[in-house]
Amino acid sequence: MVHKNVFKTRKWYGLALIAGLLLFQTACATASKQPAAHQESASAVAHEEKHWGYTGDVGPEYWYTLDPAYAIAKDGKAQSPINIVTGDLVPNDALQKPVLHYHETKFEVENNGHTIECLPIQDAENYITIDDQQYILQQFHFHAPSEHQIDGVYADMEVHLVHKDAQGNLAVVGILIREGQENALLEELFTKLPKEVTSEETLVHLEGLIDLSGLFTGNETMYRYDGSLTTPPCSEGVKWSVAGQSIELSTAQITAFKTLYTGNNRPVQNLYDRKVVLAGE
Ligand SMILES: [Zn+2]
Repeated sequence: MVHKNVFKTRKWYGLALIAGLLLFQTACATASKQPAAHQESASAVAHEEKHWGYTGDVGPEYWYTLDPAYAIAKDGKAQSPINIVTGDLVPNDALQKPVLHYHETKFEVENNGHTIECLPIQDAENYITIDDQQYILQQFHFHAPSEHQIDGVYADMEVHLVHKDAQGNLAVVGILIREGQENALLEELFTKLPKEVTSEETLVHLEGLIDLSGLFTGNETMYRYDGSLTTPPCSEGVKWSVAGQSIELSTAQITAFKTLYTGNNRPVQNLYDRKVVLAGE
């Protein structure tokens, strides 16, 4: 389904098998040329991204076969996402909740063939502080259903706010999303989701400003753990903070996203010897 949108942009449907095959290759190349933007990483990929998806022989079970650089998807012991078992949380006041510094910001919206991703037009204004380190917002994007589970349960969707420090280390904040009230903060976004894979020229520019602090109450619990990108190359060393309380989107908003992407979630990974920390204030 990853290439559905790419296919739609092509006009050569009725052609014979050979043409179809060429078309498929073209579509793959198009998708793989997308910047490594979706990943919780902007920095992790130096070479061209291999074609990957969420189903079939390019699905999560096979990511490690697609490129030697993806080997950690199978061999890693600190992979994401995970099932967060609230009964097993370890309170640790020394590991604090991320401190949010978000402001009203203009975003442009990309459909990168794997998700819908929003990139701040001016990105130095939005950052989080975690473990006394500043991480600047790179983008936020969505998965449906959620990638993380809480006590074994998926939510309808999940949003990932991806940040990077000056050394290129990543810190991602995840919030689970449940069906409910319309989310006014994201209203314009969810009425303008780009249906086709975008190029530089077809990025959607939102007119309104979004202050991402509106996704938080400030009182939510935060679960912290050491994990990875949830997309190839699945690099580790990512500081994860997952909010303990979900936010809501309306049925129409969730449907608008799921019409484009359903099942763009990596299955939960083994925790191994990691602990999930209930972050201190
Ligand atoms: Zn993500």
